[in-house]
Amino acid sequence: MSTILGIESTAHTFGVAIVKNGKVLSNCKDSYTTSKGGIIPIKAAEHHRRVEQKVYDAALNDSGVKEDKIDTVAFSQGPGLSPCLLEGIRFAKEISERLGKPLVPVNHCIAHLEIGRVTGATNPVMLYVSGANTQVIAYASNKFRVFGETLDIGTGNFIDNFARHAGIGFPGGPKMESFAKDGREYIELPYSVKGMDIALSGILTNLKQKIESKRFRIEDLSHSMQETVFAMLVEVAERALAHTGKKELLLGGGVACNKRLQEMCKIMCKERGAIFFCPENSLLTDNAAMIAFLGEIMFESGVSFSGKEAKELDIRPRQRTDDVTATWR
Ligand code: AMP
Ligand code: MG
Repeated sequence: MSTILGIESTAHTFGVAIVKNGKVLSNCKDSYTTSKGGIIPIKAAEHHRRVEQKVYDAALNDSGVKEDKIDTVAFSQGPGLSPCLLEGIRFAKEISERLGKPLVPVNHCIAHLEIGRVTGATNPVMLYVSGANTQVIAYASNKFRVFGETLDIGTGNFIDNFARHAGIGFPGGPKMESFAKDGREYIELPYSVKGMDIALSGILTNLKQKIESKRFRIEDLSHSMQETVFAMLVEVAERALAHTGKKELLLGGGVACNKRLQEMCKIMCKERGAIFFCPENSLLTDNAAMIAFLGEIMFESGVSFSGKEAKELDIRPRQRTDDVTATWR
């Protein structure tokens, strides 16, 4: 029975949420966007600093929880962009010191998986498709193992980069999805699955050349991009289900908001008798509710840092999913 304040700041989103006994009481955020061009880490960090107090106040207000009822402060420790993570950890330490409450450092990718519990997924294979990350993750003997991943860029960054080339600002994913709906023709693109991993940079180069040639409609290119890349993701996820013998597939990450990706996953699950889980959009894209949610599970299992130990906590920009020992599972 604890009340947890969660803080998310790994990339474009600064979020604060309150979770109590596994229930999300509030989930507030403010995201850095651009009308043209991609994410600039320093600018995103400045954004986070600018909005932190406003987001914090909103999260407390929405939840109806008083500051002094907070038992612990959970924050995204990594992986992520260093300037952004530094804003988050500084803010977390300030609150923790002011309230005299301990800190719980949370791995962002694992939080994407564990929040799946609110949908009923207990032991899933997660297809985690976000901006910077693309991994197929599942729990096996004390760790969340990465069964497959991108060998170069994350799927969201890949889509945003493609969008940028087509003159669209950040984030490009939602716009490309709506273009894809008006696609009429499938244009062949390289299909790049290597064992359990995927590679996207070759497809990106190919798409950029196609845009520059001006011979293709952006709608057809978006449609073809989705059909090709999502098929690659679904193939790897299906193989992970077969390999682990698990019966649940969970989607996570911002790209998972894409309805076509959800549909393709659903069809694959139906065909192999697995159950498909997909949290609502506010829990798919980067959010603080998942940080507070996993923070509570970790706190209840005994993870907590106070005093000198809390002061010495640092960010882990390159923390790997399988570096973390899941003491709470
Ligand atoms: P995250 O890093 O998990 O917050 O996810 C952000 C990424 O999700 C960005 O790269 C977005 O372009 C991408 N994204 C968001 N919505 C969609 C969508 N409907 N289709 C494809 N990508 C999306
Ligand atoms: Mg994420």
